[in-house]
Amino acid sequence: MKMNQLRSKCIDKLGGQCKKCGFSDRRALQIDHVFGDGADERREFGPRCAGVIYKRILDGERERYQILCANCNQIKKVENHEARLGGMIYQSMMGHHKHRRTWQQTASVMRRRLGKVTPVESK
Ligand SMILES: [Zn+2]
Repeated sequence: MKMNQLRSKCIDKLGGQCKKCGFSDRRALQIDHVFGDGADERREFGPRCAGVIYKRILDGERERYQILCANCNQIKKVENHEARLGGMIYQSMMGHHKHRRTWQQTASVMRRRLGKVTPVESK
């Protein structure tokens, strides 16, 4: 299956529209990492990253990803300071922690530290 077909299937699976505002033109819909761990995934899987994400979604992993439109995704990024968080997670994984965290552990650490990284509320 081609990547754009896969992407489209994933968008369907995750509800087919922006979770925040309901925007549904898929040209501007993006698969968002609920917990902002996209940079970690890119680091881990490199060019295969998109395929890995699509497979996870189609295998039923729902809590980790959501659909946002480009606008809402950008706003979320600013609000959650994802760049800063990504660096923090990376340091904690590569630094004194011997064991790599699973994304669930990362998410719980982020929830503890920030108290505000939550999936976007649907209306
Ligand atoms: Zn939106």
